[in-house]
Amino acid sequence: MPNPYRHTKVVFTIGPATESEDELDKLIRQGVDVCRLNMAHANHDWTRAVIERIQRVCERTGRQIAIMMDVKGPEIRTGPVEETFHLEAGELFDLYIKPDELDEADRKGARGVSINYPSFANDVKAGDTVLVDSGLIRMRVEDVEPRRVRCKVIIPGPMGSRRHINLPGVKVNLPALTAKDKADIEVGIEAGVDFFALSFVREPDDLDILRRFISERGSQAKIIAKVEDQTAVTNLEEIILASDGLMVARGDLGIEIPYETLPVVQRRAVKECLRVGKPVIVATHMLESMITQPLPTRAEITDVANAVSEQADCVMLSGETTIGKYPAECVDVLDRIIRATEGQSDRPYNTTVRLRTPKGLLLRSAVILSDELEDAAILAFTKRGYIAQTLSALRPRKSPIFAFTDNRRQFRQMLILWGVEPFLMEFDPDPEKTIGSALDLLKKQGWASEGRRIIVVSNVLASERMIDTIQLRTVE
Ligand code: PGA
Ligand code: MN
Repeated sequence: MPNPYRHTKVVFTIGPATESEDELDKLIRQGVDVCRLNMAHANHDWTRAVIERIQRVCERTGRQIAIMMDVKGPEIRTGPVEETFHLEAGELFDLYIKPDELDEADRKGARGVSINYPSFANDVKAGDTVLVDSGLIRMRVEDVEPRRVRCKVIIPGPMGSRRHINLPGVKVNLPALTAKDKADIEVGIEAGVDFFALSFVREPDDLDILRRFISERGSQAKIIAKVEDQTAVTNLEEIILASDGLMVARGDLGIEIPYETLPVVQRRAVKECLRVGKPVIVATHMLESMITQPLPTRAEITDVANAVSEQADCVMLSGETTIGKYPAECVDVLDRIIRATEGQSDRPYNTTVRLRTPKGLLLRSAVILSDELEDAAILAFTKRGYIAQTLSALRPRKSPIFAFTDNRRQFRQMLILWGVEPFLMEFDPDPEKTIGSALDLLKKQGWASEGRRIIVVSNVLASERMIDTIQLRTVE
C-alpha cells in the first residue's frame, strides 16, 4: 500500500509559519488532510488570498485538502489598550460595559478596560472568576454595576489589547453569530470552503442558525460544532446530532471546566460521535512544546496516541503550525505516532454505531467481512457521502475505505473521515463499468496490487432492477 494511507486524519491551522506557497507545498505533500483558518486572527483579504493559494498548491501537487473556516462565535474579548501594562496582585481592576457612559466617579479607584459583552453585569455576580488570556491572569468579581464590573486581581500578569476572556460556569448571553462572523462566513461561502467550525456552541439552535445562514446563501459546507464550555458539555448529545461533526476544543474547554475532567469529557465526546456516526476532531495543545522545540514531550506523544486509540477521526495542530518554528516537523511527528499506534491496534469494528436503515446494516456486513479477511480493502461509491461516513463510523479493523464520488465538494468533505481515502471519478450509467474503472484506478495509482481482495459495496443491475450488493472481488 502506498505511504499516504493512514486511518486518522490531520488538521492543521494556517498562519504566518505556514501560509507561504513553499510551506503549503511541503505540508500538502507531507499528507495533511484539512487546513483550518482561524477567523479570530484573519481579515478578508488575507482569507481570500490564502484560500486561493491553497487551491493553487493543491492543483500543482495533485493532492487535494479540505478547507475549514473556524468562525469566532460568541467569544468575549477585552478592548484595545494604548500599551500593554502589568496588573498587580490584589489590585482592583474594572471591566467597562459601557465605556462611553462612564464618568470620573465611575473610573475612580481602579484601572480598567472595556469588554465586548453588553449583558456582562447581568450574567456575573460577586465571587465569580474572570480569566484573561487562557487563565494567565485570574480575577475575582467584587462588585457589579450596570456600567462596570469591578474585579480583584488574584493572579497578576500583563494586560494587552483584545485579550480573550473566559468566565467558567457562566452561561454567556451573546448571539451565536456576531456581525463579524456573518461577514466572515460570506467570504468563506464565496471562496468555497468545505467546512465551517462554530466556536462556543452552546445548544443545537446555534448550529441551526448557522445552517440556515449558509444554506440561504447556497452553500453546502458541513458544520463542525466546537465544544468549548460547560453548557456545550451539558448539551453534548443534542449538539452532536445537530452538527455534521464535532471538535473537542480543549484550549477553551480546559479553562471553562475543571481541567481534571477534560480527559473524561474528551472520551465521552469521541464515544458519542462514534455511536451516532459523526466525525470528531481532537484539538489544541497536541504538540504545544513544538512551537519552540523540534521534538515533542513524552506526554504529548502519549496524548496523540491516546486520541488515536480512542479512534478520533482527526487530530489537530493550532499554534504549532500558525506561529511555531517547526510546522513540518509537527506533521511528521503526528504521522509517526498515528502509524505506530494504528499498527498495534487489534480491536474489532465499532459495534456501538446506531444504524437505522437496511442500507446501514448492509454496510455493517461489509465491514464484518473486512474484519474477518486479513488483507481486504473496501471499495464504495457515494453520491451524498452517507455510505462513506457510515463505513468510516463502523471503523473497520484494518481495511482502508476507498470511497469514489463524482462530486468535487463531497470528495473534499470525505477527507475528514477516519479511514476514508476519497477519489473523484465520473460514474458510468452501468455500475459494472464504474466498478471496473475504480479498480483500474486503484491499481494504476498503487493502492491495490494484483491479488488484493476488495469488498465492493455498490448497486448493480439485476433483471433490469438496481439492487444493493456486497461483492468480494480480487484485483486482476
Ligand atoms: P481556538 O479553538 O483555537 O479557536 O480557540 C480551539 C480551542 O479552544 O481548543
Ligand atoms: Mn477556542
